Amino acid sequence: MATAFLTERSLGRIVAGHPWVYASDLLRVEGKPEDGKEIAVRGSRGAWIGVGFFNGKSKIPIRILARRRVPLDEAFFRTRIAQAVARRRDGEGRLPSACRLVWSEGDFLPGLIVDWYAGGAVFQTLTRAMDDRREWLVATLRTLLDPDVIVERNEASSRAFEGLAPRRGIAWGTGATRREVDAGGLRMEADLLEGQKTGSYLDQAENWRRVAARAKGRRVLDAFTYHGGFALACAKAGATRVEGVDLSKDAVAACERGATRNGSLNASWRCANVFDDLNARVRARETFDLVILDPPSFTRSRARLGEARRGYKEIHLKALRLLGEGGRLATFCCSHHVTSEAFRAVALDAAFDERILLRQVEAYGQPEDHPVLPAVPETEYLKGFLFEVAEKG
Ligand code: SAH
Repeated sequence: MATAFLTERSLGRIVAGHPWVYASDLLRVEGKPEDGKEIAVRGSRGAWIGVGFFNGKSKIPIRILARRRVPLDEAFFRTRIAQAVARRRDGEGRLPSACRLVWSEGDFLPGLIVDWYAGGAVFQTLTRAMDDRREWLVATLRTLLDPDVIVERNEASSRAFEGLAPRRGIAWGTGATRREVDAGGLRMEADLLEGQKTGSYLDQAENWRRVAARAKGRRVLDAFTYHGGFALACAKAGATRVEGVDLSKDAVAACERGATRNGSLNASWRCANVFDDLNARVRARETFDLVILDPPSFTRSRARLGEARRGYKEIHLKALRLLGEGGRLATFCCSHHVTSEAFRAVALDAAFDERILLRQVEAYGQPEDHPVLPAVPETEYLKGFLFEVAEKG
């Protein structure tokens, strides 16, 4: 097996548990490492660090899988996946109707994501090494979970950095790729092949419930609603009026079906660009008691952070104008590059411009099935706050 020796400078981060070795962390490499294959990782003077997978085409040529001296063979792979799945089971050994089964670095399986939708599994293999092991993955999922379909959603643009082409399709099985699941107290639909992400925003399901717990008797606007998770949960919880907005026509159609499916809930939907829609509502002097903002990530890179901040600020400004004193804003950010503090600063900045004093009521994060490793900041991406308009000047 080839061996990589790391620079002194990189050791602190990597020994503390970060699995990524950048090209600039490499002091030298002994042997001929092959893309997708194992490589031993050692300190500058040869002390053992761990074993990982190599890809010379990637900006991250090594991702460490194990700190112990173990072969990264099929048995290792199966055990790791089994451990991740076991963490999602309840006391009776049951899985939730829908959940994330494997969360990449958060489950010590860098580059692998697996989601579960009531008997259907959806996976993403985002690194060369994981992509090469698709057959192990499919076999493991079949024995562990007995699914009726396994879908591959490998459209992520990040695959290009690994020298991988996009790919999407049914990897195994004949089960339906459109199905219904229980999530966040709702009956939701998920299209495993055509839906956004892997079919649903499973990372928000718990937050639907938490935000909705405060929606009774309120007029709610859910901006960037997708299938209406927040909106439907609020309607079910007794909100007096609920409106959802999304740019995607398919998403809005799913919202309408969702309202019927969840007990003829009273909500209305608009297919529109939220930026324009908020402007129109401000001009029309509309008011709400609770506004929810859950936009897609406005930046995938650190370089475009300034632009992203302007986007986040813009929607916060407009949302705040729709709220009176005592009104609430539930706001989320799913960009890893924007830290929780930076995100809160954007909301604060918008509030300052509007001469509004905010009170923080609650903070939100990722659910347990999207585990965060403090030593690996990249595992943490979702943050949110519930603010109250404490004073309006
Ligand atoms: N709140 C949803 C997830 C939202 S994901 C949930 O909890 O399930 C972001 C959504 O924003 C996507 O559905 C996408 O279609 C939509 N979107 C992206 N840009 C938009 C824009 N400018 N205006 C309106 N919707 C937009």
